[in-house]
Amino acid sequence: MAQGKIIKVAGSLIVAEGMASARMFDVVRVSELGLIGEILELRGDRASIQVYEETSGLMPGQPVESSGAPLSLELGPGLIEAIFDGIQRPLNLIREQAGDRITRGIRVPALDREKEWDFEPRVAAGDKVSRGDILGVVQESPVVEHRVMAPEGCGGTVKSVKSGKARVTDVVCVVTGEDGQEREVTLLQRWPVRRGRPYAEKLFPQSPMVTGQRVIDTLFPIASGGVAAIPGPFGSGKTVVQHQLAKWADADIIVYVGCGERGNEMTDVLKEFPELHDPRTGETLMKRTVLIANTSDMPVAAREASIYTGITIAEYFRDMGYRVAIMADSTSRWAEALREMSGRLEEMPGEEGYPAYLSSRIAEFYERAGMVKCLGGDGRIGAITAIGAVSPPGGDISEPVSQATLRIVKVFWGLSAQLAYKRHFPAIDWLQSYSLYIDNLGEWFTDHVSPEWNELRGKTMRVLQEESELEEIVRLVGTDALGWKDRLTMEVARSIREDYLHQNAFDEIDTYTSLEKQYRMLRLILDYGEKGQMALDAGVNLSDVIGMPVRERIGRAKYTPEDSLAYFDQIEAELAEQAGALINRGGL
Ligand code: ADP
Repeated sequence: MAQGKIIKVAGSLIVAEGMASARMFDVVRVSELGLIGEILELRGDRASIQVYEETSGLMPGQPVESSGAPLSLELGPGLIEAIFDGIQRPLNLIREQAGDRITRGIRVPALDREKEWDFEPRVAAGDKVSRGDILGVVQESPVVEHRVMAPEGCGGTVKSVKSGKARVTDVVCVVTGEDGQEREVTLLQRWPVRRGRPYAEKLFPQSPMVTGQRVIDTLFPIASGGVAAIPGPFGSGKTVVQHQLAKWADADIIVYVGCGERGNEMTDVLKEFPELHDPRTGETLMKRTVLIANTSDMPVAAREASIYTGITIAEYFRDMGYRVAIMADSTSRWAEALREMSGRLEEMPGEEGYPAYLSSRIAEFYERAGMVKCLGGDGRIGAITAIGAVSPPGGDISEPVSQATLRIVKVFWGLSAQLAYKRHFPAIDWLQSYSLYIDNLGEWFTDHVSPEWNELRGKTMRVLQEESELEEIVRLVGTDALGWKDRLTMEVARSIREDYLHQNAFDEIDTYTSLEKQYRMLRLILDYGEKGQMALDAGVNLSDVIGMPVRERIGRAKYTPEDSLAYFDQIEAELAEQAGALINRGGL
């Protein structure tokens, strides 16, 4: 293992010599304090090392020792409910041991070594196993069953397997390979963060990740295994959207990577997330969440690593056959860390000082999302849905990070400061946002919700687009220039916006809408539009169409509880009756 000496210190980047036998991306321990770093560049026997901890006090001459292994994570029971920093130091365990600030060089293992888990085997002596097979399970939290998978290089015949209490480092299974070699399996495995975990086959995502948020599910759905970006102008409701997704999306596991915006913002996340209530299980949301937190007072290098740490943990749960949602907030802060590191390495800067490989790094992150057939003989399917927040300076998405992100992601939920100002929440701008999964998910919606679904969605989008064109005319020449039919279109658009797209995250019923209810609500509003147009055709006055008493009920339809959807039959009947009466009168 390489033993070198520091020759230069520049912020979190140091240069050491005597490192000829080290390899790129090896983890090193720097100085007597044993600060953690990673080799970014090797030239001859000189290594450029990014140090993940505060580097003040380091100086030339101090020792640097390579560990001979790349930056790796500990994967095993104990991930759920944990709060890690960017290089998987367990902030909650450290706080218990060392108080609020991370003591430099502190060595606290990521996963608790003392805690005992109840291991329940799923294989028996004599069974054939290969990589990815589930050897046993551990109830990690009241809602997460942790599946212990045969790790890399572990194939053959089970020699012995234990049952009952085990700590993460205890051997729970011994497998004899084809070559006669015995391999001991513990609950804990390691995996290098910068390498994607393998799977049997990548599958094309074909079902949505249902979120219960109407503007998302109806207009801009994301596939389970899909990738989305959401920009976050301050106060536009980004945090609420993320919390809503974490709470309601049909994902089994949530991984939240926070790259500190302002110092106290991450503290808010650390405070708020653990308090979120999980509507699905009645527990706190943390019982199926892993948090990765970088406050702004942590070195940039740890922030750069955090996104890989997050996606690796997400992959590990995906491999168990779970649907994982990972949220990275914000990837702009992460890209700034990348820029800073690149600057210190004196690399050739690209656009706005970001390194030329910015796009490929962003792509590497999102490409690790997806739906896969996992390794292991049971053919289980797992998925990672990745949602990255971007926070372009001044909200201008023509800058490099937004642009590189938009080239990769297939869904864009454009939060609009203007909508937020008007208190239209969620402030997802329907004219600016898009989902490229629409065509692929169409069949799923037809099969699972209604054969009419795609048509209704198309009509809704058309009405909203028409509204924006009509608004333009109104702005130029006033409402009087519009005919009754156009004015009714604007009225229907208003109803779509206010009665449908607007959704109050803090209302007990409105906070979540099933697809069935979304369909009933949307059909009702569009039906009103159609019947209204028919009435106008029959000579009914616009004011009578707009003034139909049933509209009050349509406006309140969103507050219909999920178990009372039959109520929609009543409103529909009332609409048919009132429209019918108008048409009969109008026809006279
Ligand atoms: P950001 O994180 O973008 O700065 P927040 O998510 O904290 O903004 O939202 C700001 C405020 O907007 C919230 O405190 C809340 O009052 C309101 N808000 C945002 N989204 C919703 C929503 N879906 N329903 C109701 N209110 C919302």
